[in-house]
This record gives sequence, C-alpha cells and structure tokens, in this order.
Amino acid sequence: HFQALVLNKDPEIKELSVDELPEGEVLVKVHYSNLNYKDGLAVTGKGKIVREFPFVPGIDFAGVVEESSSPDYKPGDEVILTGWGVGERYWGGYAQYARVKADWLVPLPDGLTLKEAMIIGTAGFTAALSVVALEEQGVKTGEEVLVTGATGGVGSFAVYLLAKQGYHVTASTGKESSHDYLRKLGASNMIDRALLSEKGKPLDAQKWAGAIDTVGSQTLANVLSQMKYDGTVTACGLAGGNDLPSTVFPFILRGVKLVGIDSVMVSYEKRVKAWKQLAETVDATVLESVVTEITLKDVPEYAERITNGEIQGRTIVNVQA
Ligand code: NAP
Repeated sequence: HFQALVLNKDPEIKELSVDELPEGEVLVKVHYSNLNYKDGLAVTGKGKIVREFPFVPGIDFAGVVEESSSPDYKPGDEVILTGWGVGERYWGGYAQYARVKADWLVPLPDGLTLKEAMIIGTAGFTAALSVVALEEQGVKTGEEVLVTGATGGVGSFAVYLLAKQGYHVTASTGKESSHDYLRKLGASNMIDRALLSEKGKPLDAQKWAGAIDTVGSQTLANVLSQMKYDGTVTACGLAGGNDLPSTVFPFILRGVKLVGIDSVMVSYEKRVKAWKQLAETVDATVLESVVTEITLKDVPEYAERITNGEIQGRTIVNVQA
C-alpha cells in the first residue's frame, strides 16, 4: 500500500494499492511532484478540471521506473512526466506510485536531479517554450521584453531564462515585497500589475519588442496595445481571466503577433529538446532560490493559495516524505 492525495470532490490522503492504479505500460515510483496553477484549480475545484471521481491530481511528476512492459523503459530508469492530460483526465503525481503510458514519459536529462526537474516542471517548460517562440519571431537579445505574472511559476522562469539570454526584462507583479526576488532572477525593471489590469487605450505608447503573458484578460489586451511595431506576445495563461477584451488595432496597424503556447500536447521531440536546453541553462542555485518544498498533506492549503495569486516561485511536493 502507498499514500496518495485523492479527490472525492474534496481532497484527502488515502492508502491505495498498486492494483487500484489505472492501466498503463509503466509503473513509476514517484519521488517528486509540484504545484501549478492548474493543480490549484483541480484540487480546490475552482476550475472544473476534474470530472470523474475518485481522482489523483498532479499534472507533473518525476520518479524511477519500477515495472515496464515498454521496450523504451526498464526498471531503474529516471523519468519525467508533464502534461498529456495527466492530473486532469488521467491519475497524476500526487501519489507515491503512478502507472502511465510510456509515450507520455521523457527520460530525465543529464545534469538534472528528479527534484530539480520538478522545480522546473510544467512552469519552467512552458517558460522555455515561450522564450523559444519569441526568438523564432525575431525578438532580439538586448531588446525590451515584458513578463506578466512575474513572481508566478511560469513568470519566474520566463524572467530568469530571458535575462540569461541577454534580453532586457521588465517584470509586472502585484507583489511589491518580491522586487528583490525578481531582480535576483534578472529583471531590470518592475511595474505594478494594477497598471495593466485596468481598461487601457486600444493603442498605447510602444514599449515592448516582446512579451510573455501568463495573466490573460485585460492585462493581455493592454500588453498588446503597448507592443512596438512588429513585436510578439506569447499567451499561455489565464491567472487574471480567460477573456481577451482587445481590438484588432495592434495587429493591423503595428503588425503585432500573438503566439499561443501549449505545454500539454506538445510533441515528444520538442519536449526532449526543451528539457535538454533547460538542463544546460538552469543553474542549481537559482532553482534552490525559487523553491518551497511541501508534502502531500500540505497540498490543499497551497492549492488555495496558488489560485489566489499568493505564491512566489515554485512549490514542489515531496511525495515520499
Ligand atoms: P502561478 O504560479 O500562480 O503564477 C501566476 C501569477 O499571476 C501569480 O503569481 C501572480 O503574479 C499573477 N496573478 C495572479 N492572479 C492575478 C490576477 N487576478 N491578475 C493579474 N495577475 C495575477 O501560476 P503558474 O503555474 O505560473 O501558471 C501561470 C498561468 O499560466 C496560469 O494561468 C496557468 O494555467 C497557465 N499555464 C499554461 C500553460 C500552457 O501550457 N498553456 C502551462 C503552464 C501554465 P504577480 O503577483 O507577480 O503579479
């Protein structure tokens, strides 16, 4: 028997047996999971993420293969899982064991521990996909790039990865007490997120060559109106709402580009490439500076906090503790 955080609408810690796990090719002993905004929505029930109960949430996990009927993995292999609907439609990482499809896993890249991989998790992976998208659209290092929701999981990694590549980063945050934290990650300027969340002009002064938006709604609309000619915005999130009260003016008068980012269904090849890059770029001491470690029993409390926008950096779950 092993422990899991089980949702029966409300979350509780339960003892499960391996026989109760869903079918799959690979049984993984989970070492770490983490807490993303989507996990917050799933665990609190605020987001209608989970539709069938009982359910084990947790969209990310990292662990060691215990049994495998797939030729791609053997017992002892270290693996990562992010996305694919795990923790939404399929049982996820808030358990000491998980059984999943082999295709959903990626091998842990050289240079990362299981714990470090979960500090990065879907958040860091999504930030990496966003930075690549800006590069592909021609945003040049040295140029002004804005990150919204900057102290969040995706935001923290976006600030860090952009600054490390040589972009000039402005961080939008609602947390004045976090300015030092953001400066250490590499932000040069901070702005108050309230400046972006009120209704603004359809076209405003041109400020940013690139922007990574994790907030959506009025914030994304205002970011679009402040983009420089030919600038690119990536949209990955809805921490501020899922609407987009914008106009076509940024697109038709300034050639602004809006690029969508999805980390859930992205291909195996892109995953392996992004994880390799993350393993090569991210500094272990920076990972330690953004992490808070919790255990399974703490998840409901932190889930509430992340949906209220009160979490800074990344929260990992030591599921074996
Ligand atoms: P997170 O850690 O909670 O970060 C979100 C940040 O947004 C908060 O820390 C806060 O930062 C800011 N924020 C919160 N509520 C806000 C509000 N009402 N108005 C304006 N700003 C607000 O969450 P995350 O895990 O990084 O995820 C960020 C977003 O990206 C979520 O919407 C998530 O669902 C989405 N996401 C999407 C993908 C994908 O594949 N598309 C992948 C990962 C995440 P400040 O206090 O610094 O302003």
